[in-house]
Amino acid sequence: MLVLDGKIASHAIKESLKTQVASIVQSGKRAPHLAAILVGNNGASETYVASKVKNCAEIGFESTLIRLEANVTEAVLLATIEELNNNDLIDGILVQLPLPKHISEQKVIEAINPHKDVDGFHPTSAGKLVQGLPTFIPATPYGIVLMLEHFNITTKGKHAVIIGRSNIVGRPMSILLSSNSPFGNCTVTICHSHTPNLKDICLQGDILVAALGRPEFVTADMVKDGAVVIDVGITRVEDASAKKGFRIKGDVAYNEVALKASAITPVPGGVGLMTIAGLLKNTLQAYLSNE
Ligand code: NAP
Repeated sequence: MLVLDGKIASHAIKESLKTQVASIVQSGKRAPHLAAILVGNNGASETYVASKVKNCAEIGFESTLIRLEANVTEAVLLATIEELNNNDLIDGILVQLPLPKHISEQKVIEAINPHKDVDGFHPTSAGKLVQGLPTFIPATPYGIVLMLEHFNITTKGKHAVIIGRSNIVGRPMSILLSSNSPFGNCTVTICHSHTPNLKDICLQGDILVAALGRPEFVTADMVKDGAVVIDVGITRVEDASAKKGFRIKGDVAYNEVALKASAITPVPGGVGLMTIAGLLKNTLQAYLSNE
């Protein structure tokens, strides 16, 4: 059984990006610049944004973190995005989700200039993805295909089963794996909360992607022998014995599923790290196309 270690795969991608940025800067040009907006102080969002900023610094990108109060108005947030859209020194913009309930996430996503949409959530990016046109691929599915590529896991002709149909993970993952591309050509089944016989469908998956946000939902009896199992889930589960008072759990019961799988991503240390690699690659792509 192969552990699809996100540390190893993301390190390789970051080293390559670091080299590219160094040569850009050496040639006298500015470094790529990512702007991140964080609204409020949700603990998990704070951690994700801090990690994105830290990773930018590690590879030589500039980054700007804009913090807004939880009670900021939608109008102020949209105006902040517009300023970043108009700033030629900013290549990529991300707004950390989720947002407070009084703000429309859809409006915010649509306010970002598609040329700076490094999270790949804008309808223009999503539409291009569906049509197989060059675009920003949402960072998590992008990170997963980069992971498969790094570990030489082929997808052609395989049956991929995806649990979850969100716009940020399940849906774009299904498009990528079914696309006519080196990391596609799978037959894809996408499952959601209304799917009957989920277990039987999962058992058919040569590749099983769990992206539903339910800790340890996928158990060994749901997994085909030799399947490649990708665990996207990240849930904080209270645990008094843990230093921080919680533990991070994936959607897959790792210990039992690892005994059946041919390859599996750990949580933490798997898809989460690859998501950041995907975001960094998108930011470089945005920079290069702004040149
Ligand atoms: P989401 O928007 O809540 O979507 C969850 C999906 O799972 C929905 O399509 C839902 O079906 C489906 N679902 C829920 N319960 C189900 C069940 N019992 N059986 C079958 N399907 C079920 O979540 P998301 O944003 O895609 O995120 C999913 C998980 O990935 C979360 O734990 C999140 O924290 C994590 N995540 C991780 C990363 C990373 O970098 N590793 C990035 C993004 C998200 P319906 O559509 O019918 O409601």
